[in-house]
Amino acid sequence: MKEIENIRMLIESEKEWGIEEPFCLCSEPVGADLDDEAVPSELDSLRKEALSCTACGLHKTRKNVVFGEGSAYAELMFVGEAPGRDEDIQGRPFVGRAGMLLTRLINKMGFERDEVYIANVLKCRPPNNRNPLPDEIVSCRHFLRRQIELIRPKVICALGKFAAQLLLESNTPISKLRGKEFDYMGAKLIPTYHPAYLLRNPRDKIVVWEDAKKILALLGRLIPE
Ligand code: URA
Repeated sequence: MKEIENIRMLIESEKEWGIEEPFCLCSEPVGADLDDEAVPSELDSLRKEALSCTACGLHKTRKNVVFGEGSAYAELMFVGEAPGRDEDIQGRPFVGRAGMLLTRLINKMGFERDEVYIANVLKCRPPNNRNPLPDEIVSCRHFLRRQIELIRPKVICALGKFAAQLLLESNTPISKLRGKEFDYMGAKLIPTYHPAYLLRNPRDKIVVWEDAKKILALLGRLIPE
């Protein structure tokens, strides 16, 4: 995928300049020693920082920053690509048609939406839902990384090829990544298909449910009927 290659090149060129900030394949969560009680307020400070961010051009066209939402202590975190039109209007992740499908999946897994955490790689909507640009990803990635460090989920579910390939720094197609288990920042990461893809390809809901069952097993939870 060309975008991932461009992002990789940008990150490599940063490393040449001594900027050592890969998206992160570290084995340990950096916030591991953080006092649990401090997590909500740390997340809130990060949210405020994101709300006033002007690091890339998307701040000129956004209506709202879509920071992410859910439990600061979530054991399961979903990561999508970027806000769409509905999310931009409401300032909340996954609230459009794809979001409704994601909510149904979360409920089918036995969770309420506010028991998990939902975020995106990009916090602002790319105009006309175009693919995120490398400089937008590089400017924004520290927010997601810090969210993961603070929340310290047991499992991260990467939704769709963009989030999965970016987090794993991989060009492997989502059809090959999905359902596999990766170590990521002290969590297990399982990629699956994006809910927007499922709206177009409802037959693949069955494989997403298989991936969801793997997540539940990793969390030590019973599979709901
Ligand atoms: N698609 C995404 O990847 N994220 C959202 O928040 C909404 C749609």
